[in-house]
Amino acid sequence: MSKPVVLMVLYSGGKHAKEQAKLLGTVENELGIRKFIEDHGYELIATTDKDRPDSTFDKYLPRAEIVITTPFYPAYLTKEKIAKAPNLKIAITAGVGSDHVDLDAANARDIAVLEVTGSNVQSVAEHAIMTMLVLIRNYNIGHQQAEEGTWDVAAVAKEEYDLEGKVVATVGAGRIGYRILERLVPFNPKKLLYYDYQPLPAAAEEKLNQASKLYNDVDKIVEHVSDLEELVSQADIVTINCPLHKTTEGLFDKKLISKIKKGSYIVNTARGAICNTDAIVEALSSGHIAGYGGDVWNVQPAPADHPWRKMHNPYGPDYGNAMTIHVSGTSLDAQARYSAGVKQILTEYFDKTYKYRPQDVICIDGHYATKAYGQHNNEKPAK
Ligand code: NAD
Repeated sequence: MSKPVVLMVLYSGGKHAKEQAKLLGTVENELGIRKFIEDHGYELIATTDKDRPDSTFDKYLPRAEIVITTPFYPAYLTKEKIAKAPNLKIAITAGVGSDHVDLDAANARDIAVLEVTGSNVQSVAEHAIMTMLVLIRNYNIGHQQAEEGTWDVAAVAKEEYDLEGKVVATVGAGRIGYRILERLVPFNPKKLLYYDYQPLPAAAEEKLNQASKLYNDVDKIVEHVSDLEELVSQADIVTINCPLHKTTEGLFDKKLISKIKKGSYIVNTARGAICNTDAIVEALSSGHIAGYGGDVWNVQPAPADHPWRKMHNPYGPDYGNAMTIHVSGTSLDAQARYSAGVKQILTEYFDKTYKYRPQDVICIDGHYATKAYGQHNNEKPAK
């Protein structure tokens, strides 16, 4: 009888995996858990081949009991793929963000969906702050000149501002959104606003206000804003930190973007599909927003001709574009954390104890175990 299959889809490490053994999240290094998986009587298939018809992912789905993938190079577990995986019991995200799984379809089949909550939230918060600074300090143009051997200060300075004194707003104030607010306090912003249907605990708000008092001698820095249009109309920088789900897909459409303060910046390290691709290009090209940056795209890997790669504001190429490929949550520190987290989840699964960390569980026994992916009431859907 053939062994049950663990199907792992990871990005390629190539020569880099040879140069850097800490690149655990690559297909070569298999999260460092091949032996652990095989010792539990499973066959491990690790592949990068996921998107073409008859891919290795498609080939092994019918035999897979466990699918493991990362958001950086996700194997999309759509309703159709789930239908082709009759033995699938658990889908594990090595990282945070399980929108690559059709969660309703997983619930309908009692497939558990888990992620390593918190494993890269500090990494993403740092990247978001960096992106804000790249945009607001007009870093690209200064760096370009450093490489080119030119010295046109005005070309940089004509769109270079300070973060100090600006209003920054986060859509989503969970683990990442909150860490971004925390890290912003020492920059002495004018206000830190947030929009979330799960308001911050009073103690968390108080911590930020106290830090603001300490660093900047300002008493109250944080405000909850319950209307999204109101929030974006007040902000100089809007940072997006909510999961992608039915009500956040395309949330930043033409209408919402039209309410954004002219000349402001959007930083999105959450998910590309939360923003309408064309509406962002239009707003940036017209100068309605001064910049857009982040690391997430509506399809990953993004095609070479994706309009976000080269979009820019009216000042010309490289102005107002701080996009990177999806890397914010895959620092080597984060890889160590999410690899260990996947092993921990698998330990509970293999040992049949199922005592998962509650915060890691997105879907279990046919229902949502979290409110982060929409305001679910833990209801079990009709089969
Ligand atoms: P979290 O669950 O701690 O926080 C998410 C917050 O978003 C929750 O407070 C939730 O109530 C809120 N939310 C959900 N829907 C909302 C809506 N419609 N409007 C406003 N708020 C809403 O999650 P987290 O750890 O902070 O991660 C957030 C997201 O960031 C992940 O789901 C993932 O998509 C993304 N992420 C990206 C990377 C990366 O590498 N770029 C890494 C980790 C996470």
